[in-house]
Amino acid sequence: MASLFDQKLQSLKGVGAKRAQLFEKLGVDSVGALLRYYPRAYEDWSHPFEIDAAPFDCPVCIRAAVISKVTETRIRKGMTLYRCQASDGSSVMRLTFFNNRYIPNLIKQNGEYLFYGKVGGTFTKREMTSPSFTTSAESSGFHPVYGQTEGLSSRQIEAAVRQALSLLPERVNDPLPEELRASYQLEELGQAIRDIHLPQSEPALNAARRRLIFEELFVLQLGLCQLKTRNRRETSCFLTADRSQEFFSCLPFPPTGAQRRAVAECVADMRRKTPMNRLIQGDVGSGKTAVAAALCYCAAREGIQSAFMAPTEILAEQHYHTMEKLFEGTGVSVALLTGSTKQRERRELLFALKAGQIHLLIGTHALLSDPVEFQRLGLVITDEQHRFGVAQRAALAGKGENPHLLVMSATPIPRTLALMIYGDLDVSVLDELPPGRQKIDTFWIDSKKRGRAYGFLQKHLNQGLQGYIVCPLVENESGEASLASAVEYAESLKAREFRDYRVGLLHGRMKPAEKEAVMRAFSRGELDLLVSTTVIEVGVDVPNAVIMLIENAERFGLSQLHQLRGRVGRGKEKSYCILVSDAQNEEAVYRLKAMCRTNDGFQIADEDLKLRGPGDFFGARQHGLPELKIADMLGDMDILSQAQQAAKILLKKDPALSFPEHRGIKGEIRRLFSQAGETAFN
Ligand code: ADP
Ligand code: MG
Repeated sequence: MASLFDQKLQSLKGVGAKRAQLFEKLGVDSVGALLRYYPRAYEDWSHPFEIDAAPFDCPVCIRAAVISKVTETRIRKGMTLYRCQASDGSSVMRLTFFNNRYIPNLIKQNGEYLFYGKVGGTFTKREMTSPSFTTSAESSGFHPVYGQTEGLSSRQIEAAVRQALSLLPERVNDPLPEELRASYQLEELGQAIRDIHLPQSEPALNAARRRLIFEELFVLQLGLCQLKTRNRRETSCFLTADRSQEFFSCLPFPPTGAQRRAVAECVADMRRKTPMNRLIQGDVGSGKTAVAAALCYCAAREGIQSAFMAPTEILAEQHYHTMEKLFEGTGVSVALLTGSTKQRERRELLFALKAGQIHLLIGTHALLSDPVEFQRLGLVITDEQHRFGVAQRAALAGKGENPHLLVMSATPIPRTLALMIYGDLDVSVLDELPPGRQKIDTFWIDSKKRGRAYGFLQKHLNQGLQGYIVCPLVENESGEASLASAVEYAESLKAREFRDYRVGLLHGRMKPAEKEAVMRAFSRGELDLLVSTTVIEVGVDVPNAVIMLIENAERFGLSQLHQLRGRVGRGKEKSYCILVSDAQNEEAVYRLKAMCRTNDGFQIADEDLKLRGPGDFFGARQHGLPELKIADMLGDMDILSQAQQAAKILLKKDPALSFPEHRGIKGEIRRLFSQAGETAFN
């Protein structure tokens, strides 16, 4: 098998240098790769319709006899039609082919054929144009449809695949050990490969798919687990005690059960010499900051420094203020370092950091830059992870003495999926909101009702509460009149509807100091209303703000809307989110309705994943996972968890995959990850 798999494509009949090149475009460079080039779809030739009963405009198979001679009509130069009538006994349909001079030879009067194509015409005069066909004795199964490229059609690929399949020995070496196949009822590789290309029935196809999907996810999971345990140097910054109780007693609120659990999991990690690698997932408002603070506290108590990175300056600043407050009177010293820290202050700060006088340094990516030297960096925390690349995570980890790593994400995704996407991380979930939180009532209105929404907003401002108005762009660059321009919009609100209120403006192009001033004023209650672009998207925390009005809400993705909405409903007051949009577009309507329906971040993320798919959801290839051939991590969630379970069991038995029966699987891991540029396995 190994030899066949490595065999050059050109060893197949009909594949010369030129065609081999075309195959290479599809990523197929060997017979093995061809056998693993699975069909994109299938034509179902196994359930022929009667002509009368065939649905219009979707591909179907029809078994019929040709009841007329093929006629040839030249309608203009270079355009000849070949036509005939076919009947299945119940009724008749017309077949039309263009410019195919072989048709009269291929289709004979009185012959019976299977035709595959879309039925068109009218109810009484059905027709098919350019259907595929075979003699009806020949085939009755599923026909594979391959992803093609110019110059290489699905049929040509099929022909090459058929040849490769004929070379496949009866029994092939299966990377999945027999025992495992038995316990998960997976068929053997050779069978699966035959059936995925040329299935004889739907059950056969399903069994093949399941087996191959399982294998792919299993290999992926094993690879990720191995990455996780690879070269994990020990850290000297392990904790010797759990002092989180001490910290909890300083908090102005009792921690939730979920917060306690997450802290306990992290502390347990940090007491080991192998550095922690953990993701904390929690919906907006679930209190991730306090969890991070508890860990920084424990570290600081043992003379271990922490770094906390946020994706934007505004967030870094805000975390800084939050942390300062949390650590008041505890002896933990907190500092902020961003791009706008003044030279002198910066020098002093860096000096103090190196001397170990600063326990917790908060900042943006600037923390990654060279002159930042810690005395004993043992804990690195990054907030809102999906904006940080894997590389940045690694760079930061390189800073200290192999520090513990904690990643915090407000994008709640199903646990099984998180295990894949953040494959190198352990996961803790904050699945409980602090008590007293109320559902944020969410409404979708069209722009005609905006005036009433303003009134509703004012009513709340009059009670001393605060609100946000969010709009998508700073300037009206696109020239679309419907697009609210934050600057103009804020001015006009100030001058008109909200002239009796204190209105602030926040947008991404303001200087950091200006932003900071506005944010501070808003969080101190010196502003009633904040008009903002999405810079407030993540993390900003003003519990007195209870209403958010989002303009052009259709312009935001579902998860983004949810993040935005998470800026309200953070205190005891009832909170509202008003989505203003005149959207008609089906997908936009779906998003807006989903927002009104649920407050649950997991559900929202689920819907968003369904709409966009995991690739888009996490940014193009940002998660750095190898590309999968057949598995769809969302659609195949149940197989995914089985594969994860199986991987866990296998690694327990043979952590290094050194048993001879695991040699095959090791090879597959290497193959899969070499595409992702991961050299660890080579
Ligand atoms: P997020 O998970 O979105 O980062 P934060 O850490 O900003 O959430 O916390 C949201 C709000 O909830 C903050 O005002 C915080 O002080 C408060 N909070 C956190 N934990 C608790 C708790 N256990 N009880 C009450 N309020 C809490
Ligand atoms: Mg946060």
